[in-house]
Amino acid sequence: MAQYEAVIGLEVHVQLDTVSKLFCSCSTVFGCPPNTNVCEVCLGMPGVLPSINREAVHYAALVGLATNCTVNLRSVFARKNYFYPDLPAGYQISQYDLPVCEHGFLRIQVAGNEKTVGIIRIHLENDTGKNIHAQNENVSYVDLNRAGTPLVEIVSEPDMRSAAEVVIYLKTLYSIVTYLGVCDGNMEEGSFRCDANVSLRPMGATFLGTRTELKNINSFRNVQRAVEYEIVRQQDILDGGDIVKQETRLYDAVKNVTHAMRSKEEAHDYRYFPDPNLLPVEINPDDLATWRAGLPELPKERLARFKDMTGLPEADIEILVQHARIADFFEKAAAMSDPRKCANYMIGPLLRECHAHNLPVDPACWVMKPEALAELVRVVDSGVISAKIANDIFGELFSNGAMPEAYITENGIGQISDSGALEEAVDAVIAENPAEVAAFRGGKTKLSSFFVGQVMRATKGKANPALVNELLNKKLC
Ligand code: ADP
Ligand code: MG
Ligand code: ZN
Repeated sequence: MAQYEAVIGLEVHVQLDTVSKLFCSCSTVFGCPPNTNVCEVCLGMPGVLPSINREAVHYAALVGLATNCTVNLRSVFARKNYFYPDLPAGYQISQYDLPVCEHGFLRIQVAGNEKTVGIIRIHLENDTGKNIHAQNENVSYVDLNRAGTPLVEIVSEPDMRSAAEVVIYLKTLYSIVTYLGVCDGNMEEGSFRCDANVSLRPMGATFLGTRTELKNINSFRNVQRAVEYEIVRQQDILDGGDIVKQETRLYDAVKNVTHAMRSKEEAHDYRYFPDPNLLPVEINPDDLATWRAGLPELPKERLARFKDMTGLPEADIEILVQHARIADFFEKAAAMSDPRKCANYMIGPLLRECHAHNLPVDPACWVMKPEALAELVRVVDSGVISAKIANDIFGELFSNGAMPEAYITENGIGQISDSGALEEAVDAVIAENPAEVAAFRGGKTKLSSFFVGQVMRATKGKANPALVNELLNKKLC
């Protein structure tokens, strides 16, 4: 069996979170009744004139600045001609030879090493509508609410070599666009989706093999599985002495396979030409300088700062910076208590609860607030409850959103730190275990943990361990 190297390049579509569409003032809100956010422009009626949404240009430039691109002060919209029912004009307005940004790169962390993935271009375009193929009726519907929503397409160099690298690159890009605030990050709604181009070549070769393109994948897990599947599929073909056909394929997440959608022979000749209805997009250099200066703290810098705050290794706290909302949650909790302990609760029990309840790792989906996490850290620090009890009640606090102090009082789970009450328990344990007391006094000091354990049992784990030790020392020695 020959040794192959996988070569992967991605085209990522990012929906820009503007209030209105790219060329008209219709709303971009998701989930409205079909065909309610539409007008003559996004319905592609003849004779209408598109006018550019400047906010979309601003957002596209921000993505370029954050990915080390050259932002072109002048770019040109071009018509990409093809027929599809969800594209009423018969052409998409995109950018071709003069995109808004180009020649960038992203640095990603792969197993502790930094790797650079080149970005060829970033262009602006309008999204299509949606075809809805009704399940039990022999009919298809078209919803044009999404038609005209602004997108940027970020096209990478074929610089990735494995499914794992693809996922890291995508997550890096995802965190950047959500930090910039230009994308809402709702992958289930299609706000961030990609096409993966995959080819194989003999290990050590420098030419590119024939690629297939896996269309429209909208979860990290599906990208990983689709690319893994495709690498194996191509390897089998090459091992069998056949050649890979250049084609577009679809990934079926239910069956975990890819299947052919259209071949390159049927591939579109889009007949791009500059859109005569739109002037070139101009960006004022002063605006660009202002945007550059106003870039927010990006995930990489935030990670470095969180590392300093917590003293924890990057690999452990990476999850905290993946989404701006998670990072903000952590930052809030950390400001009100001990940062390192907050981080540990988040990467331990909190993630566990998310997985247990099948909830996204996104504070927008949690009822627990950062104030509650900070309070939990503080009640453990001040000895109101033990770390063990905190772990035991974490699931409850996560599910019901209660504030820890109130929850502890209501449920009578505070730690016993009152020496009078504890003294009684300690005296009882000493009285009940004369043989062990004698052995301890005879030099078997290891027995001290036995006494602590007995007191803990008697108090159902609520005794303050430091205080128990202190009392035992006083009474036994
Ligand atoms: P198209 O519209 O035909 O898909 P694009 O230039 O928009 O072409 O995108 C091409 C994408 O495919 C880029 O991300 C590029 O890195 C990637 N690519 C090109 N050739 C190969 C190849 N042989 N193997 C893997 N990826 C490739
Ligand atoms: Mg493509
Ligand atoms: Zn419209």
